[in-house]
Amino acid sequence: MNVVIVGGGLIGTVLAQLLSLRGVNTTLVDSGVQRPRYPLIHSKLLKFREDVELAGISEGVYRELSRELGVDLIHDLPSITIVPGWCYRELVRDLVNKWREVGVEVSILNDVGDYGLRRVSNDEVYIMSIGGDHLVDIPGLIRLTMDSERIRYVHGEAHVRLDGRNVEVVVNNHTYTGDYVVITAGAWNSEVVGKLGIKVPLLPYKCQAAAFLGRSVNAIVYDYVLGVYARPLTPRLNKLVGRFGLSIIVGGDGNVEIERPGSSKGVNEEVMRDVTNRLRLRFGWLVRIGSGFGYCEGTPDMRPLVGSLIEDKLYIIGGFNGYGAEVGPALALALVEYILGGSWPNYAKPYLINRFSGGWPSTWDVSREAHELCNER
Ligand SMILES: Cc1cc2nc3c(=O)[nH]c(=O)nc-3n(C[C@H](O)[C@H](O)[C@H](O)COP(=O)(O)OP(=O)(O)OC[C@H]3O[C@@H](n4cnc5c(N)ncnc54)[C@H](O)[C@@H]3O)c2cc1C
Repeated sequence: MNVVIVGGGLIGTVLAQLLSLRGVNTTLVDSGVQRPRYPLIHSKLLKFREDVELAGISEGVYRELSRELGVDLIHDLPSITIVPGWCYRELVRDLVNKWREVGVEVSILNDVGDYGLRRVSNDEVYIMSIGGDHLVDIPGLIRLTMDSERIRYVHGEAHVRLDGRNVEVVVNNHTYTGDYVVITAGAWNSEVVGKLGIKVPLLPYKCQAAAFLGRSVNAIVYDYVLGVYARPLTPRLNKLVGRFGLSIIVGGDGNVEIERPGSSKGVNEEVMRDVTNRLRLRFGWLVRIGSGFGYCEGTPDMRPLVGSLIEDKLYIIGGFNGYGAEVGPALALALVEYILGGSWPNYAKPYLINRFSGGWPSTWDVSREAHELCNER
């Protein structure tokens, strides 16, 4: 069996690895228009039960790939989730039991001073979690995949076209065909399939983050009081600069801007200043040393989608907004099971693209990502 995958970001790379490890001839095409530059957060501390299940399955996928490739892709980190009192009482108290079911150790802290964080409001709750969060070396996985002997890696922009019922992928004037073509082009998904005249319920948007030098932090911080998150840039760097009592952290907020992927000139300075000020309230001394942006995409319900665009020929998997590393590998595995076994595993059924077969609006709110807590008010 031959499969051609368009897009070698997070999902395409995991999918290519899973397929080729199961003996499928796999071609992965990537244009290099966007690549994760540092490890991504994988967290099981999610809001929706089905997402928590997917995050548990994704962790298993990372562990399988680590074993098979002989590398350590997944690095455990504790996390501190800071929520307003109302959100703890109305939402998070019940969620904690769900997180415990997938092996997360959860405790409530009285104070976060020992972790280098400041109290900002009198009504905030600190949730310490161990075993629920990881940094996953996706850039390392992509590098290994580019050099893999099992996977045919093609550098270039793919153009997908239909020849009768056959789907062809054209890259640098060369045509690739397979039993299946899978589109995993992230924020470019709607553009790639749009050229075939196929519309999908996906809206691309820009999100941004900044890097800071600050006092040593050895946890991921999800701060729903200030609406920001922060995490060490990489585990190795954190260890290195940690010797001097310092950390390089990446932080951001949920700010998004709807725009065509690739059209941006840079970060929005006003947003970055605001993020910096909010992070300083929590972390104290921080020096901004860089910033960057990337493109994500969301569906109308902000949950990912997977399924066929042309039955038994053309598949798509996307809509991962800010939590692709959490739930993406599980849905990639589901697609592998579908391609090899002919049916979707139960855990994938809530995410099938046919939930939008009744139509979708022309635009929608992408500012509330599915992994964020406490955004009900
Ligand atoms: C600043 C930032 C920080 C983030 N942090 C996290 C995090 O910590 N944890 C987390 O879970 N998520 C995070 N996300 C979100 C995460 O990056 C996405 O959910 C995830 O990358 C989606 O995976 P994907 O494979 O669908 O898309 P992508 O990873 O974007 O991959 C799409 C790929 O398609 C390629 N491509 C596009 N068009 C073509 C074409 N025509 N031909 C060939 N190739 C093409 C691109 O080069 C790219 O490699 C972050 C996003 C941003 C922007």
